Parts: sequence; structure tokens; C-alpha cells
Amino acid sequence: MVEGLVQGVGFRPFIYRLAKKHQLAGNVTNRTDGVLVNVNGEEGVIDLFINEIETLAPPAAYIRNISQNTCSDLLKDDFVILSSQAIQDQITEISPDIAVCSDCLADLKKQEHRKNYPFINCTNCGPRFSIVKKLPYDRINTTMHQFQMCEKCSEEYHHVLDRRFHAQPVACNHCGPVYIYNDKRNFNKILNELVIKIQQGEIVAVKGLGGYNLICDAQNNLAVKRLRKIKGRDAKPFAIMFNELHTANGYCYMNEFEQKMITSWRRPILILKQRRRLCESVNNGLGSIGALLPYLPFHYMLFRKLSISAIVYTSANNSGEPIISDDQFASETLSKKVDALVSHNREIYNPIDDSVVKIVQQKTQIIRRARGFVPNPIPIKSRVDGIFAAGAELKNSFAIGKGQQAILSQYIGDLKNLETYTFYKKTVSQFFRLFKFKPQIIACDLHPDYLSAQFSENLNQGKLNGGQIPIIKVQHHHAHIVSCMAENLIQDKVIGVSFDGTGYGTDGNIWGGEFLICDTKSFDRIAHFDYASMPGGDLAADEPWRMVLSYFNQYSINKPDIFCGIDQNKLAVVSEMIRTGINSPITSSVGRLFDAVSFLVNKVAINSFDAEGPMRLESIADKAETDAYSFSLNDGVIVLEKMFRKLIADLDQLSPSRISAKFHNTMVEIICNVAKKIRSETGINKVVLSGGVFQNSYLLEKSIENLENNQFTTFTNHLVPPNDGGIALGQLVIASNYL
Ligand code: ZN
Ligand code: ZN
Ligand code: FE
Repeated sequence: MVEGLVQGVGFRPFIYRLAKKHQLAGNVTNRTDGVLVNVNGEEGVIDLFINEIETLAPPAAYIRNISQNTCSDLLKDDFVILSSQAIQDQITEISPDIAVCSDCLADLKKQEHRKNYPFINCTNCGPRFSIVKKLPYDRINTTMHQFQMCEKCSEEYHHVLDRRFHAQPVACNHCGPVYIYNDKRNFNKILNELVIKIQQGEIVAVKGLGGYNLICDAQNNLAVKRLRKIKGRDAKPFAIMFNELHTANGYCYMNEFEQKMITSWRRPILILKQRRRLCESVNNGLGSIGALLPYLPFHYMLFRKLSISAIVYTSANNSGEPIISDDQFASETLSKKVDALVSHNREIYNPIDDSVVKIVQQKTQIIRRARGFVPNPIPIKSRVDGIFAAGAELKNSFAIGKGQQAILSQYIGDLKNLETYTFYKKTVSQFFRLFKFKPQIIACDLHPDYLSAQFSENLNQGKLNGGQIPIIKVQHHHAHIVSCMAENLIQDKVIGVSFDGTGYGTDGNIWGGEFLICDTKSFDRIAHFDYASMPGGDLAADEPWRMVLSYFNQYSINKPDIFCGIDQNKLAVVSEMIRTGINSPITSSVGRLFDAVSFLVNKVAINSFDAEGPMRLESIADKAETDAYSFSLNDGVIVLEKMFRKLIADLDQLSPSRISAKFHNTMVEIICNVAKKIRSETGINKVVLSGGVFQNSYLLEKSIENLENNQFTTFTNHLVPPNDGGIALGQLVIASNYL
């Protein structure tokens, strides 16, 4: 019995071919709990066979467990694939989309009916989640349904020894989807025109796998600048697609783990340290590059003709809006803005962005979980059947529970944007239909104003449910910690450290620098950062100088020259806000603390994208610096007056790199000191680190190192993001206590 993701990834034909190779008789069947293989043969051969199931499995298959039983039935001489429609109907696992495989790339040159066919695929590669409309995963239930297979494709599809046996999106030049540009359908001609335009510094929009993308020459500063205007994105780094690994290596530093990730079939955008600059506008001096390699046949064919080896590859939607997948919408909104709009006629049913990941201490950290990861289920210990977790407000992703698995949606985005909220509602109903899911419990954030929480109320009010479904409100930072506990299969009490931008606390204040003792059911808040006011509310997150003013007020620091670049009237208004408390909620957020320090050290007065200041602060931190600032811990409140006073004095004496490092080191020491104090009182030795601030690699690596030097066991997120994109997993598991 083989358990794991073994459906829709060419697993049964793989077993068939393997059994034939070893001349084993028997059969293979799909079951709801996995794939059952029966074989007759000598023990040594069977051992080898089982070994090869593990080592040679198709790339996108994920084997959780292989269990072995001896049975006395004598099987016939042949090996056969048995099918059962009833079982087929119950299978709920769907594979993520898979990057084109090397066999298919070779076929592009040698297979007559697929010569240069840009939609080539096989059971080991190609679209999956993005095209599936409902289960079971059969061609008829995908957006490939409208394409009638030609005789040749059909032959391959039905031939069990063929690599395209039951490859649902199988197609060729004669029968499959085509690219379309200004009514032209000759792919070679389209490609030639695109190549000329990109090389001339123009911007083209191309329909990809999960949505429309914008492409331009990554070394043409003017082109990249214009792309920023089109997208409404000021400074946030763009993803760069390199033609091949070798080129990426020339521009980025990569260790073996990073090489493995960037070339994996998931093909995410991988955040790497920049070795050589492409052009200023690509990342505006941030020192990192979001790199990815070609994953569609189209990408490979484009690079074969291009004389340039790196392109900006970004989604075509306006900044903050959901990915564009609708052809009509694309032609209405994009054609006026770009120099060419290329579409194709394979419908995208589940729009999905490129994923973004980092490697931290040789392990994956997911920043944006989408293509290549979704909808892989997360195996957990709790039973979460029938639970819908609505997720957070920013970087939203929701989740549904199936048995002991959590299925998280693709990255949705920030729900405050109306289009994104519409995308959210649509995706929720698509998920319910796709996974035949009916909510029995709803989990959502404690924040009364979150749209995901309001959506939950509305969902419950629907005539189907009549207000009968319990809604469990989950505290934001408890959810962060439990997201990490769940994926690490922890159920006992832990010390949870949640450093975050924002989240609604049980006292009505905005939390974000929290030390909890918790399990998957409840939590106690043991320590937190000193409350400071956030003048202007959310505006304080956009304008870091506001937080500096707030901390200065808090600790009676008078240093007006710090604010010399800030408008004097604005300064007066904000000071008044802090004094009177009007429109100034109070917060313990470490995210806001990083903002403040980034203004002091780097003069980042305005975050032109989420966490710009903190990212710049991290990028300059001097790794050799070991010094830190002092702080005090008064009754569970972390007070930073000493730190701020010394840091301001340092501004005239130390380099920004050293000050940044000293500040980071202070955060590490706070984590370690508070954890030690909690351990001495409770004996708890497991420390769970989660929350958006832990996307900061410097902080995360040093914290883990320091904690482990002090004999703590540490846990971090690897399967879901530590940011709000992972919240839904925590909500799901916390709500399971109410089942
Ligand atoms: Zn393939
Ligand atoms: Zn065909
Ligand atoms: Fe958060």
C-alpha cells in the first residue's frame, strides 16, 4: 500500500512499468487512502521493486508511507491496472501544476506531431490544479474538455506503456490549445514578434499557466521603470526569470539547497542574495533577487530565440489586485497599456500566482504559497473534517479540513482590495465544490473588522445553513504559533514567540510582539513588547517615522533633528494624535518596531511596499557584529527605552550596518532571555517561532542558533508561510477542539 499524493501524477502507469521491468505479476488499484499494489514474485525482486517505487517515483508524487503485507492469493501471470469508478469518485487529492519535464522538452524537437508545440505535457508534467473544475481528475472535468484528442494523442492516452497514458491535458499541434496574438495563431510567428519587442525594450503581456504575466528585458532600466508604472508598483523587487541555472548563478549566490529548489518541478520564485546587478529598477538596491527558471514550454522556446538571458516575469494585475485570468478582462485592461498582448485558448479555471520561497538554514521557508504547492494537503495530527478556516485579512489564504489533512487555498492577497475580496469569495465556493466540502465549523480571526470574519458570518447566515454553524474566533498570534505546531505535528505545550506586523489582541489592542505558552487549544500571554501608540492607525505601517515619534514620546526622548526631512505640519498633527490618543490605537507589534528602527538607521520614511524598511534594514546588517543593546523586562513587558537611547547615540558613531546588526541581536537576546525565564518557571523546552517578522532570515537564523545553544528545541514553518498566509492552518487546528 502506497500512501501520499499518488493520484494524477502518473503513479499507476509508473508502477505498471516498474512491475513489467521486474517481470512481476499482479495488479495496481487506486483506493481512497492511496494506491494498492499486489505482486507475485521472489522476495529479493520484490524488495528491489519496493525500493525503486521510492527512488524512481514520478517527480510530483509524494510518498508518505509504504506498508507491506503478505497475502496468499496467487495472482495471474500478467500485471494489470484495475480501475474502480466508485473509488475514483472518492479521491480528493489533486496534484499541483508541474513544470515541463525534460522528456517533453526533448519531444519538442523529435516528436513529429508536437514539434515546437507550446502546450506539450505528459503524466510527469504540465497543468493540473489550474485547469481542474471538479473531481475526479479526468479530462472531462478539466478545461481541456473542449479539445477533442486527435487519433495520435488518443492512442498515447490509452496506451499503458506510453508516458502520456491518462495524461489528462495531453494535446498536440493538431488537436490542442494554441497561442493567439492579434488573431494570429502561428506560434512561430508570434514568438518571433515577441522576441523583437522584448529585445527592443518593449513590454509584453502573455497568458501563462495561472494567469497573465508581464515580461520585459531585465537589464533595460527604462523598460523596467515603465513596467513599474503600468503595474502601479513603485519599488518592490520584481521576479526575474533566467534562461538557465548557469545564468542565474552569475547574478545570484546559490548554495546546493537553493539550486535544488530553483530547479525542482515546483519552480518557485526563489529569493537569493544578489551577486551582480541586472539594472537599478529591478530591485532598487535591495541586494536580493527573486529568481526563477523557465517552467512552461513557452518559456524555454522564448529563451531559445531571445538574445537576452534574463527577463522580468511578473503578474499582469495592478499591484494589490488579484491575478488576471479572464481573457476578456485582460484584453480590456491590458491591451492599452502594453506593446503586445498574447493569449491562448486553454481556460484557466483556478487562477494561481507563482510561489515565492527562501531557503533558511537548508530548509524551505514559503513566503507565498501558490503554484507548485497548492493544493498539496498538509498532513496534521488533529481531525479537521468539515472545518473551514477563513484566514486573515492580508496575504489571505483560506483552508478546508479533510480528515487529518488541511488543504490551503492558493495565495489570495489583501482582502481590503475589492477585486481581491471578490476573488476570495469566488475561490472559496470553487474550493467547496472542487473538494465536495460542506462546512460544519467555521474558524476566523478575532478581529471584528476583518472581511474574512464578516464573510464567515455571511456564510453562516446563508439559507443553506440557517445560522447553525458554530463560528470559532481565533486570536491571530495563537493561530500563527499553532500553524507551526500543526505542520511540525506538535500537540503539547510550547513557548510560542510570535513577532508580527499586526493582529487583534484579546484586550482589543493591536498585538505583534507576543510570548505565549500555548497548545493547540488555548494560550496564555506571558510577555509582550511595551505598548506604543500607532498614530494614524494603519498609516503608521506605511510611514515608519510616525512610529519613531511614538517611541520617542513613550520614552521621553527629545531629538527633533531626526525628523528634519518630515513636513513640520504633519509632524505637529501626529504629535498631537499621540498626545491625545485620537486615532492612535496602541500596539505591541515588532513589525512596527522594525519600521521605526529602519527610519532611524536607513531613513526609510515611507514604506513603498509591505515591510520595505525592515527588508532594507536586514539587508545591511553586519553579520560579524556580536554586540546588542540593553532592554528591560518588567512584569512581562519588554521595555526598550535603553535600546533607543543608545541606538540614537550610535547614529553618530557606528555604521548603519553595525547598528542594524546590534538591533537584530537585541531581538535575538530578547527571545532567548524571555524563553529562558519561561522555561525556568514551567519546564517547557520547545520554542515555536512564527509570524511575518520571521521572514527576516538574519533574525530567524540567529534566534534558532542562540536558542539551540541554550538547549531549546526550536520549530519554524516550512510547509506554510510564517506570515498571514499560514494563519488558516492554525485556525483550522484550533477549531478542531470544538468538533
Ligand atoms: Zn512531460
Ligand atoms: Zn493530438
Ligand atoms: Fe500576522
